[in-house]
Amino acid sequence: MTNAVTSRIDVVASRARDGEFCTRVIEESGQAVYACYQCQRCGGGCPVASAAGTTPSHFLRLLTLGLVDEALKDPLLWFCVGCATCGARCPNEISTNEVIDRFRALTSDKRDIAGEAKDIRIFHRLFLKQIRYLGRSHELLLIGALKMATRKLLKDVGLGITMFKKGKIPLVPHLTGGIPEVRSIFRKRAGKR
Ligand code: SF4
Ligand code: SF4
Repeated sequence: MTNAVTSRIDVVASRARDGEFCTRVIEESGQAVYACYQCQRCGGGCPVASAAGTTPSHFLRLLTLGLVDEALKDPLLWFCVGCATCGARCPNEISTNEVIDRFRALTSDKRDIAGEAKDIRIFHRLFLKQIRYLGRSHELLLIGALKMATRKLLKDVGLGITMFKKGKIPLVPHLTGGIPEVRSIFRKRAGKR
């Protein structure tokens, strides 16, 4: 078998894997993604669409086409704040945030993403880890962990000092009383994977 044929087989196999992955994300999200007819009502209400430069329906389209790498590079994947406005505005009741949540959860750590999206993914993981163990976020711990993980020790130092002086970054974490319940939510989510 020639190298050209082998590499073409690899490409076809990789696309098939991506297609299966997207199908799994869509199924586990429980959303009627294939019913989307691109009316853009979701994008009109999404508070982060302009910052992301894309729309919830665009993200859905990438998944239905099985384009995992493109979806990983879509800023909306990491900018989405889970406000659920997209689902409330959608005539087909498609909550894109549910799809995004499943995509984030199922995306393998080994999958390469570049640039700002890589740091946002690291932040996302660290933030969830902190919520899981402390029940809420603690800015100072989160900043420290993020700087170690991204190795960008001096980035935004000036901003951090200003926030600290204004009392926006407390030294001691405030724990919540509901940590067992929070952990139970994480266990239930993990069971869905
Ligand atoms: S509002 Fe619903 S149907 Fe319209 S583009 Fe968005 S997801 Fe698709
Ligand atoms: S849940 Fe996410 S995608 Fe949907 S409107 Fe809010 S920020 Fe946009």
